[in-house]
Parts: sequence; structure tokens; C-alpha cells
Amino acid sequence: MPRGAIVVVGSANMDMYILLDRLPGKGETLLGGNFQMQPGGKGANQAVAAARAGSAVFLVANLGDDLFGRDMMANLRNQCVATDFVSLDRGSPTGVAMIMVDSEGENLIAVAQGANSRLSPDQVRKARARIGESDFVLLQMEIPLETIECAIDLARDVRVPVVLNAAPAPRAPLSPALVAKVDTLIVNEYEAAVLSGIRVDNDTDAENAARALQKMGAKRVVLTLGSRGALALTEKSMFVAARKVEAVDTVGAGDAFCGALVTTLAEGFDFADAVSFSNAAAALACTKVGAQASLPARVDIESLWKE
Ligand code: ADP
Repeated sequence: MPRGAIVVVGSANMDMYILLDRLPGKGETLLGGNFQMQPGGKGANQAVAAARAGSAVFLVANLGDDLFGRDMMANLRNQCVATDFVSLDRGSPTGVAMIMVDSEGENLIAVAQGANSRLSPDQVRKARARIGESDFVLLQMEIPLETIECAIDLARDVRVPVVLNAAPAPRAPLSPALVAKVDTLIVNEYEAAVLSGIRVDNDTDAENAARALQKMGAKRVVLTLGSRGALALTEKSMFVAARKVEAVDTVGAGDAFCGALVTTLAEGFDFADAVSFSNAAAALACTKVGAQASLPARVDIESLWKE
């Protein structure tokens, strides 16, 4: 099977977790937590997800020229993600997410986007030739909108289709002009509601929201539905059931899904098969704790998918 070639343009953060019995109140200092640190950010996570799923991946990203940035650069290379277009920016620290999680799984998260907010259209333009040689460009919403727009326009210029994971949900609705240039739009229920204005409480709402997004111009829409699987909308719509697994932590599921979807689309899978393969990848990500640490390898995805 030929490997798909993917360019991901997106964020990379260092995720710092403190696991506590309960979350601290305002002004309170709470002792007794356990600390963990892992590379994250949706761009880096999805780049690693696609590489583990079998693609040849280039990441376009901006790290700070600091300890975290250098560590994350080495981590990407270890994960077989090409870093030719990942910069170490002297003008800004590496993006950091501070995450506190209590024993019930409730969390408090603050993100300092740092160098991610300086990922510029110029950096994307440097990857133009590589984008031209790729099968898909994969984007998320953790970098400046002008950079996303530049990547979409550049991909269009060189006739490479774009997969946009509209996560996290943008504050303002996306312009129809932008959505119209997207080949495949991936959203969860919350993001679908924000973008379409239709609250998703049941299957009929899901279909209506996905159709509204398609009307805005996306050729295909995938609405992920957590433990229920995903709705895939092309000319017709179909619900693709989730894989049943013992879920311990759903962090990373969405990123595993996006990396697997772009990989299988690049390999020419038909759309329904690509979505069901991606459900299998995302289900495996739910069986392990963490984001990047839980992203599954191709052989494991295939064996669950074929079951
Ligand atoms: P996000 O994590 O981005 O909010 P979802 O919650 O919709 O998105 O999950 C993404 C995908 O992960 C789903 O489409 C499904 O394939 C898979 N998934 C999520 N939760 C489970 C679960 N409990 N069991 C199996 N698969 C799951």
C-alpha cells in the first residue's frame, strides 16, 4: 500500500498536568498533586496520529527557542514527523497548556499559546513545494486565522484538498468563503453546534447540523458523536458506529480520528471505510491515558477495524 503524504499546519504545546483530589479554589494553594508533562497541541498530536496510522507527515509549526521547544522538536523526530518546517522562534516561548484534573475527571485548563500565535503565513509559504507534493493538508483552529486562510488558499492553488478539524470551536462563525474551500470538515457535537447554530442532542439534529455545514460549502462533513461513533455526510449521510472498547480516557480520541481519517483518505479508502477505520483508531486512543501517548499504531488499528 503506498503511504499517503500529509502536511499538517498547526499548533504544538507542552501539556503540564497536575492530578489532584479536588481542584483548588480562587486564591487557594493546594498541596499533594502529582505532576506529568507531555508534548501536545492539536497540530502536533494529529501529525503524530497520522504518522502512527501510516502516513509520511510534515508538520508546519512554531515552537519557542527554549527547553520545551527543543524537547518537542526531538520528540516529533522520534515520532517520525518531518520537522523541516518547524521553527524555533526566539521572539516567543513555546506554547504551554496548564491542566489540573481532579479525581472525578473534572478539569481546569489554561493555555498560553506562545509561539503558536506567531505561526505566520510566510512560514506556510515556505512549505509550498512540499504541500504541492502532498495528498492532503490537515488543519485545526489553534493557530492564527490568517495562517489557516493562507494554508487553505495555498493548498487550493496547488490543487491539494484540505481537511479542516474545526477544533477548538472558533469564537466567531467561520466565513462561508473559507468553508467552501474545504474538502472535508471534521467537527464534534459542540463544534457542529457553534458553527451551524443547530444544537446537537440527537441523530436528527446531527444530520441537520452536518447538512447546514455542507450548505456552507464543505464538500464532505464528518460529525463525531463520542461513544456513538460518527456521522459521515457526502451526497448521502450515514451513521458509522463506534468500536466498543473499555474507555479509560477519551483525551486524544479526536486527534487519533483526524490523523487516521486523513491517512486513509490519502490512501484512497472509500469514505465510509475511512470513517470506520478512524472510529477504530479513536476507540484505541480511549483505552489509554494521555493524548500523544494513547495514539495507536497502524497494525493495532487494522486488527481492531477488521474484527
Ligand atoms: P472529541 O474528543 O474531539 O470531542 P468525540 O468525543 O466525538 O470527539 O470523539 C471522537 C471519536 O472518538 C468518536 O467519533 C469515536 O470514534 C471515538 N470515541 C469517543 N469516545 C468513545 C468511546 N467511549 N468508545 C469508543 N469510541 C469512542
